[in-house]
Amino acid sequence: MQKLEAGIHHFQANYFASNRGLFERLAETGQRPETLFVTCCDSRVVPNLITTAAPGELFIVRNVGNIVPSADRGVLGGVSAAIEYAVELLEVGHVVVCGHTNCGAIQAILHPERVDHLPFVSRWLAESSRVPKLIEERYGHLDGEARATAAVQENVLVQLESLRSFEFVARRLDAGRLKMSGWVFKIATGEIFDYDPVSGQFLQLGAGTDRERSVLR
Ligand SMILES: [Zn+2]
Repeated sequence: MQKLEAGIHHFQANYFASNRGLFERLAETGQRPETLFVTCCDSRVVPNLITTAAPGELFIVRNVGNIVPSADRGVLGGVSAAIEYAVELLEVGHVVVCGHTNCGAIQAILHPERVDHLPFVSRWLAESSRVPKLIEERYGHLDGEARATAAVQENVLVQLESLRSFEFVARRLDAGRLKMSGWVFKIATGEIFDYDPVSGQFLQLGAGTDRERSVLR
């Protein structure tokens, strides 16, 4: 708690003091975020830090495993409400689902028996129960970290499919008014990889030309 309080003081004396105008403007005009950012609760993933986004720029939804339950699953976890609010009301132009490496939720999705004693976690992660089967079918030859990283990627792609199950999302995607991206944040290197539907791979973002972009493995 003391650490948090010291942090609040530091924020007010530094960042806030230098950006007072921005906060006053945001308070007056309301938010107009460009991006809906769906990511994991993991404390090592800090959306505004890794994208250098200012307050007011990211509308963030966080949950264990960056899961988007499909439209027919109702208001599960409040995710559908946040998506509807961001897309229909705030009219964001971009939706990002951002998974990350070394994700505990992915380990639990791959090995559900490990979280048998956590009924809420088990029920929530069952929303991504397609992932282990996909991994078995497509990445049966991988093991260890490579298999886990493949699962992180597949889990992101499953959530992009779920996003499309919302009629208001599909309509905007088809009309070119909304862009959808699947990302993976690699904690150990700080890199972000973006799903490229043409190559079917996750390619490094912010790395100059296409040829210089490395592939997440
Ligand atoms: Zn995670």
